[in-house]
Amino acid sequence: MFLDIAKINLKSGKGGDGAVAWRREKFEPSGGPAGGDGGKGGSIIIVADENVHTLMDFKYKRHYKAENGQPGRNKKQYGKKGEDLYLKVPVGTLVKEAESKNLICDLKEDGQEFVIANGGKGGRGNAKFANSIRQAPRFAEPGQQAQEIDVVLEVKLIADVGLVGLPNVGKSSILSTISDAKPKIANYHFTTLKPNLGVVKLSVDQSYVIADIPGLIEGASDGLGLGHDFLRHIERTRLLVHVLDMSGIEGRDPLEDFETIQNELSQYNERLEDKKQMVVANKMDITGAEDNLLRFKEKYPQYEVIETSAATTMGIDKLKYALYEELKTVQVDYESFDDKDQVVSLDEFFKADKTIDVFIEDDIVYVEGNPIEELLRRTNFEDYESIMHFEKVLEDMGVMERIRELDLIDGDIINIAGYEMEFYE
Ligand code: GDP
Ligand code: MG
Repeated sequence: MFLDIAKINLKSGKGGDGAVAWRREKFEPSGGPAGGDGGKGGSIIIVADENVHTLMDFKYKRHYKAENGQPGRNKKQYGKKGEDLYLKVPVGTLVKEAESKNLICDLKEDGQEFVIANGGKGGRGNAKFANSIRQAPRFAEPGQQAQEIDVVLEVKLIADVGLVGLPNVGKSSILSTISDAKPKIANYHFTTLKPNLGVVKLSVDQSYVIADIPGLIEGASDGLGLGHDFLRHIERTRLLVHVLDMSGIEGRDPLEDFETIQNELSQYNERLEDKKQMVVANKMDITGAEDNLLRFKEKYPQYEVIETSAATTMGIDKLKYALYEELKTVQVDYESFDDKDQVVSLDEFFKADKTIDVFIEDDIVYVEGNPIEELLRRTNFEDYESIMHFEKVLEDMGVMERIRELDLIDGDIINIAGYEMEFYE
């Protein structure tokens, strides 16, 4: 079992602003309000997919943003909804909030979905604000802000097949010809030595994960070399493939190699002895390999041996399918990965972010943040007292001071969470 981790930044789409528009009819130059509602922003949805095996894609692209909703239009037309963004992750992925590392969700089943960042609601157009008293509302509602969150994705990969064997027998070579692995997979959580993982694909929905377990040498079970850590991982693979350099080109006898590894495995843990094993006779392209193979078969008739050459790829396809068939017969030993971490509610997470941003873009001052949106929801801009209260709260929050530091002049435009107003000292 290997831990695959990726940290990514997610941002949903902002809701489209409601429009301020007026009906224009032939004989009625300024008709009633006709501004449509803004479209909802796109959401980001994480979905577990059994055809996805690693978090590799997320290591190369870290920022994901869903589309914004379009603003409302005239003739009471709705703005277009922002497209949702689906991120496919392996089944068994844990999604954690990046800073606290608290669990947000655990995607256990194929097809399971989780909305991690909801798109902002579209604002209502001025058509929606008309009533018998207020027939020509000159304002519309801004679209709701996007939600942004940094998350850590974590998946505990269970290698279905573990390649074991002494150094230089050809484990990495086999891995790179049989799977998509480029032996050196980045960012696994091992600093000293990285187990190489690859996905073997037979077809779109037939695949398995194979790992090259390096560093296994004589004495590994006593903690010698780097093999010790990896033996722990071997324990969790469903099928062991023992790779032999059948040519003995390095001056070793493959039959002795075989004994050495078998001893290591059994000394480490008796359960490993019982684990299903297949033997691969590699380097069959080299002369002398045939003779050794005959000796091997005589001595160990109980093992099924598959002959390969990683150099010429002879036998690799056969191995690929043989492993797949063999895996079908091995029971999956599902482990419970239930994390005991505290679970965070996303609602609370997004509300808990109390930061207020004040920044200038294209000569407009923007003020954004949860507390501001909250304040706006409680403000009625057609009511004098309500506006006075709004200003006082902005002052108390320190927002006015930050705005004053920008040396604005009267008439400059300030956009407060979507509402544009002019600045007067
Ligand atoms: P590992 O230590 O078990 O991962 O072994 P490697 O895959 O690194 O291979 C060790 C050496 O053997 C490399 O020089 C490979 O090119 C070579 N090798 C691997 N497989 C074969 C094979 O089937 N035939 C030949 N002739 N050489 C091989
Ligand atoms: Mg290697």
